[in-house]
Amino acid sequence: MPRSTPAPKPAVRGLRLDQALQLLRQAGHELPADAPGSEAWLQGLIDSLVDLSSRDALTGLANRRSFELALAREIDRVARVGEPALLLGLDIDHFKQVNDTHGHASGDLVLKAVATALLECVRPMDMVARVGGEEFAIVMPNCPAAFGEAVAERVRRRVEAMPVQIGTRKQIRVSVSIGGAFAPQWVRSSPALWIERADVQLYRAKTGGRNRVCLEPSAVSVVSAEEKALLFGISQYQDIE
Ligand code: GH3
Ligand code: MG
Ligand code: MG
Repeated sequence: MPRSTPAPKPAVRGLRLDQALQLLRQAGHELPADAPGSEAWLQGLIDSLVDLSSRDALTGLANRRSFELALAREIDRVARVGEPALLLGLDIDHFKQVNDTHGHASGDLVLKAVATALLECVRPMDMVARVGGEEFAIVMPNCPAAFGEAVAERVRRRVEAMPVQIGTRKQIRVSVSIGGAFAPQWVRSSPALWIERADVQLYRAKTGGRNRVCLEPSAVSVVSAEEKALLFGISQYQDIE
């Protein structure tokens, strides 16, 4: 006789729910106010868990996962609506020195201050994300070239001018290097290729002396062969020829 699969133990399911609730409490989330176990309560719980899994714990900004989802959505939107979008990659300059000189906790305060400064420089429709240790990104939909340049420069100046208070007596100043690449409406890119182009510009900003903005000129020549292939669907026909 075939052995029946044992039913899942209710105790395990209860434990997972406890863990989820504990995670939310620790992260300072309000628990759903509806009757526990009701549909509205479960939906509230799911919404809070989704929110928790899409944010960076230190700064509260979008995390890398939601940033990449936003990039993919933005590429679709650019193709559909026909407005160019800008991706900015930002990296704090000499951040290791901040940790080494003032301690890791002070470094964390700097990361939080930079996150707040970035949010203050952008429109509500833009997404600010922490994508790595001291690396941030801004996704700006519907962004003409001149506007993108102005915002990137505003961000750079804001961070440069911002003193970060460490304890009661000390203040630290930091700067950021910024690289940017556009997703023009006539090109079909991918998140990885778009990030790669912004990274090239960020590298230029770093090697050019740091605390500066380098934006890709919005011209055909900078679009990679791979992106052109995506646009014209070349790769899928290559094997046939
Ligand atoms: P560069 O100007 O070339 O960007 O130099 P850098 O020192 O900023 O770059 P590097 O990659 O050498 O150092 C990054 C440092 O960021 C090293 C790492 O310890 C620190 N870091 C990464 N994540 C965190 C974090 O969450 N908190 C703190 N305090 N430091 C972090
Ligand atoms: Mg870095
Ligand atoms: Mg750095």
